[in-house]
Amino acid sequence: MKRHLPFRYLEPTFCAGLLDDPVLHLNVRPLGRAILIDCGQIHHLAKRVLKSIDAVFVTHAHMDHFMGFDTLVRHIHVSPRTVELFGPPGIGRKVEAKLAGYDWNLTESYWCSFLVHEVHPEEIHSFLFPGAEGFPCRPVGARPWRGREIWHNGFLTVEAELCDHRIPALVLRITERPTFWIDGARLAEAGLVPGEWLREMKSRFYRGALEGAPLTVLRQRGERVVKEEVEDVSALFEAIRRVQEPASIGYMTDIGMSEENIAKVQELLTGVTLLICECSFLAEDVAKARISHHLCTTDVNMLARELRPGWLLPMHLSKSYNAKSPLLYREFALPPEVRLLRLPEHLTPCPLLPAEFPPLGAE
Ligand SMILES: [Zn+2]
Repeated sequence: MKRHLPFRYLEPTFCAGLLDDPVLHLNVRPLGRAILIDCGQIHHLAKRVLKSIDAVFVTHAHMDHFMGFDTLVRHIHVSPRTVELFGPPGIGRKVEAKLAGYDWNLTESYWCSFLVHEVHPEEIHSFLFPGAEGFPCRPVGARPWRGREIWHNGFLTVEAELCDHRIPALVLRITERPTFWIDGARLAEAGLVPGEWLREMKSRFYRGALEGAPLTVLRQRGERVVKEEVEDVSALFEAIRRVQEPASIGYMTDIGMSEENIAKVQELLTGVTLLICECSFLAEDVAKARISHHLCTTDVNMLARELRPGWLLPMHLSKSYNAKSPLLYREFALPPEVRLLRLPEHLTPCPLLPAEFPPLGAE
């Protein structure tokens, strides 16, 4: 997937086949660390992949999106770090129940902890599960949540909306950090001459500190280049930056086609670079989609027209269509600027039958 896509810092890998339980791995190249979106079937991910995960975003706790959490715990519980996990209201109690399902009498002081955040409509409630003590649930408190951002690191921001899937489900947008790009033509138009001041501006930009102090720039005045103090450094940057939206990923799964959901999704995901979108049913099974609050190909075609992503990756097709995925791809009718990405039905080998194992006692 990553070969074709214009991401600067992110390496997205969809780790499930079309019919498998979804899981998206996003490597943040400059950090060598990653985040995971949904936690379906993850047993095929290497331990070192799971150990590089800083945060997990679970859209909702239906089994096909959350059962991989146990595998994640199995691989990382003895690593000395805190892994954050975000989910809809109630996810704290569900993590508590999962962790309480095991005996932890052999814990060590360096074991990992989970910091779990429940995204409520206007608050985020947090719970710490310290591994050193056997993962008890310790409420950390609630903080007000305005806007959409729920998490960020130095290279990306994760935003969320709570949608309705008969239970609350998170729809997510991951956006790369804006890049300090200067448009040479706009710079010349403004009569500015490159110099050390651009390096200073760049350093301030990445520290999030464009404002705070004036910046001395170089300006062409007739034949001469003169120094000039600029007070409003943000406005100056706006005037000379290359106008380009940072690349982004939309992740939408298991929501119904209610007007309210569509309005939220339009607000959050219009114009994303890559839209990863559940498509559980073929058009003829629209009734099944409506009953279970999933999407069918007609819905995805409509959303592609509305949201205009650069690339569209349909995923999470109902397992009832095993071996019928060509039918799915035939039903997509996308605007010409939306490029369709395809998944194989399965990524991992078929599970084995007893007869396929080597017999016991074989030489
Ligand atoms: Zn679901």
